[in-house]
Amino acid sequence: MFWNRAMETIRGDELADLQIKRLKWSLHQAGKTGLYQRRMKEAGVSPDDIKTLEDVERLPFTTKKDLQAGYPFGLFAVPLKEVVRIHTTSGTTGKPTVVGYTRQDLENWSELIARNMTMIGLGEDDIFQNAVNYGLFTGGLGFHYGAEKIGMTVIPSATGNTRRQIEMIEDFGVTAIHCTPSYALHLAEVAESMGKSLDTLKTGIFGAEPWSESMRGELERRLGLKAYDSYGLSEMYGPGVAFECPERDGLHIWHDSYLVEVIDPATGERLDPGERGELVITPLVKEAMPLIRYRTGDITRLMDEDGCACGRGQKIERITGRCDDMLVIRGINVFPSQIEHVLRSLPEVGDQFMVYIDRVKHLDEMTIEIEMSKVSFSGELQDLARIQKKISTELQNTLGLRTAVRLVEPASLPRFEGKARRVIDRRGNA
Ligand SMILES: [Zn+2]
Repeated sequence: MFWNRAMETIRGDELADLQIKRLKWSLHQAGKTGLYQRRMKEAGVSPDDIKTLEDVERLPFTTKKDLQAGYPFGLFAVPLKEVVRIHTTSGTTGKPTVVGYTRQDLENWSELIARNMTMIGLGEDDIFQNAVNYGLFTGGLGFHYGAEKIGMTVIPSATGNTRRQIEMIEDFGVTAIHCTPSYALHLAEVAESMGKSLDTLKTGIFGAEPWSESMRGELERRLGLKAYDSYGLSEMYGPGVAFECPERDGLHIWHDSYLVEVIDPATGERLDPGERGELVITPLVKEAMPLIRYRTGDITRLMDEDGCACGRGQKIERITGRCDDMLVIRGINVFPSQIEHVLRSLPEVGDQFMVYIDRVKHLDEMTIEIEMSKVSFSGELQDLARIQKKISTELQNTLGLRTAVRLVEPASLPRFEGKARRVIDRRGNA
């Protein structure tokens, strides 16, 4: 089902023409701010120089630091009286990021959420519990207005009071829920402890934090729903930037509203479709806060343009990590999340692993210490060799890099309280 079939399926030259036209408008809009007047001048480029989508590479990047430096309203391209809402993100370091919206921005944002929800079969017959933080966090109001737009019955339950949330799901016959994956798991646990099976739930929309395919399986099993991944960031309105369709093989990014590139985070060079790197987004229709080539810090890759059975265009792979975590090993970009993903899919692997990187005779060597699972640990040498070979082959297929695998007994690696520190890079000490 489509909310806006024309825009969701626009392709080829027609799409490129629309993107260029909107990009030029966006560059002019950005040019109303001091930041972009300076940046464009430094880059020696003007909006009129941008004639094809390839020319986008000549444009300067924008980073989170730029937004913090512009605190509070330095990146607004319209007078404050035209800004009808402000959201902020809590910066873990330094000033928060402030995002402003015109009336049209809010309208566009709701439209994108409406597309996402229609795409997965939701509509006016659905009862929707929006169990995320309302207020400054964009996930609350963002989904709220999009859901109302398509006529769903919206329950702005926000977070907290989990037993009450479960009662509402049961008493109101809630069919769809939006929350963080970790809160969904908590809901499942509490529902199980209350002896509630939540039979009316059909659809779960989960976002705002990364979650794995195994988490998807667990949420679907325990809550009895179909789980969809939602991607967004406040700098681009909030949620609604990209979303899974029923195929659930990558997220469609709304190509008429966002121009996307993937770059090598170390060099800033644009990567080819299929290569994994940092997602860079240029919003094409934002009035209050236009941005040029915003570096999201999120790791993904562009997927095959013509591949989706649903008929929509550009997809990105589910976010596999953050740039800050990237390792460069023998010139190959490796993300710890990729290693984790491979290991978690193998039944022979237990709970913990550690990655060590050394430089041996000027060459990078990666060694992964892996706890075996209790079921696979027999202590027989031929078993160990077979499992070791299987794991290193799987890793090589995914990472494109040969790694040494060392198997250790179950429960023998260190445990972490709080955030796990699984990568030890010893190259600096060589
Ligand atoms: Zn699709």
